Amino acid sequence: MKEVVKSECNIVLSANAATEGGAPLAEGTFTLKKTDTVLTSIDFGTSGHGGGDPSPKYMLLYYMSHCDTDLFKFPIGVGETWTEEGHWHVQTKSRLEGYESVEVSAGTFSDCLKHKTVFTDANVQDTKAELRNALLNGTRYLWFAEGVGLVKLRYEHSNGVITEAELLEYKTPAEDREYLPLQIGNVWTYKWQNTYRNEPAIEEWRVIRNFSEPENLECPMELASAKYEVKIEADAPRVAHVKCLLTPKADSNTKDDEKPLLLSMSHFGTEDLYDGYARYVRDLTATDAGGEKIPVTEIGKTQWAVETQNASPVTLCYTVLLNHDEREWPFGRDEAPYVQEDCIFCPGYALFITGEVADIELRIDVPDAWYVSTAWNPIGNERYRFTIVDRDDLMYAYMVLGTHSQKMAESDGAEVVIALGGHFKASMDEVQRTVKSLLHTYSEIFGGTPDNRMLFVANPCDIYSGGGVSGRSISVLMDGTLDADNRQSWTPLVAHEICHIWNGKAIDFNTQEYWFSEGFTEYCSKISCARLGIISEDDFLRDLERKWELYLSKQGELSIREAGENKMVNRELVYEGGSLIAAALDLQIR
Ligand SMILES: [Zn+2]
Repeated sequence: MKEVVKSECNIVLSANAATEGGAPLAEGTFTLKKTDTVLTSIDFGTSGHGGGDPSPKYMLLYYMSHCDTDLFKFPIGVGETWTEEGHWHVQTKSRLEGYESVEVSAGTFSDCLKHKTVFTDANVQDTKAELRNALLNGTRYLWFAEGVGLVKLRYEHSNGVITEAELLEYKTPAEDREYLPLQIGNVWTYKWQNTYRNEPAIEEWRVIRNFSEPENLECPMELASAKYEVKIEADAPRVAHVKCLLTPKADSNTKDDEKPLLLSMSHFGTEDLYDGYARYVRDLTATDAGGEKIPVTEIGKTQWAVETQNASPVTLCYTVLLNHDEREWPFGRDEAPYVQEDCIFCPGYALFITGEVADIELRIDVPDAWYVSTAWNPIGNERYRFTIVDRDDLMYAYMVLGTHSQKMAESDGAEVVIALGGHFKASMDEVQRTVKSLLHTYSEIFGGTPDNRMLFVANPCDIYSGGGVSGRSISVLMDGTLDADNRQSWTPLVAHEICHIWNGKAIDFNTQEYWFSEGFTEYCSKISCARLGIISEDDFLRDLERKWELYLSKQGELSIREAGENKMVNRELVYEGGSLIAAALDLQIR
């Protein structure tokens, strides 16, 4: 068996900023890489309280780490200088100036290493570029105490703003004499302030991970096929047992050339979770063809390496706890796993650990009375065995498992599997009729239908209402009922989501164009509802009037295209503004 070579470490720090009164401001995770010769910042992600990026204020940890820049060169020597290009093309010139005594709230630290960097030529390209560039450029001083870490920061930004920070308290082990000790569990609390943000912020940093990568990751083993089995038992609906047989390509490995098998889970919607969907994964093991255990090394956020031998197949086993509905997700409750009284909803990204593979098969083992509703194509008439087109098709599909109700709606070559849970089950015939008429209407408008089977899931929820689309699946959670006599209340949401099968999926963009994919979908679905008699002409016009008012209330600050960077916060510009453009174009075309 091959030893994992620990030539370098990846260190992940979490940062939380709040006001002095404790109101949350921002949170983020920052990844550093440490080798024998350098400590570099390689990645970061931040989000402001209430969604969105806290930039241009950033976080103190960003001011210290920047991104793609070397914080230290080893061995450390006063007088050392180095230059490089960092994130956003910023040019840096760093120098270790000497030793100074520093007094801050956490204490007096003699012989602090004074670290100076001059930043120039930052080239951020976004809507706040001017301010962000002005804050990135400037001169930054850092003071590090041996065995403690950063004790003081002063950043003289190029626009005259000055950021100052001091260490309030810290917890680092006494035996580590590094200038920035990075053991898991080390914690620092800072108070920082600048003239841009008048109120002081209290920011806590914590080392949450520190792990090594095997050295031969550049050349991973290629996979020929993956066969998954998912088992859920009736008395433990929140526990999914996953087993996967991964078979390497026959010619991708030899005895002399052992390659690691790289495995990962999706990062979709987990920017603010340092451990991503692995938070809910338990007991991950790998075994070889002879049933012997093989070590699984964690090499990053939801990334693992398995050291294999002789291109032998590997069996992965793990459990996923479907407790995702205990927290809020950036995409909403309707796109994370949830468990209702009669069914389990689960997207592939929360369940599957996988490698780079195209030939995928999945068997789902559930109690006899349960249905499994998915958009995947079944294999023969075997119960709940599916072929999956590729890795994305596995990851970005939804599944509904349970005693919900399932029916197919077909029209003009389009096939939609409808899955309804809870009291929505009673409305299956009505929903099936509606979906069918929408499929027909849209295929007339767009001149055809996408040729894959799709899934439409709707479940009742009295605390949340929303819908989403992922791959070939649509999910809706909503309050109320799906009856014929209140069609005008539920059909518009259903019509909007079904319309995304065309606009947003069949018609897609490389960059976000939400004013089009959301705005035009909103208009197209509303006018279709009016034509089908689901909403009256008066209601349609009143809705247009309301959209106009909402749009005008927010119009002016951002273009509707820029507004798409944060489409939920800027709903009025993206959804309403976009659908007004659609209405204007529709009138012009006639
Ligand atoms: Zn939408």
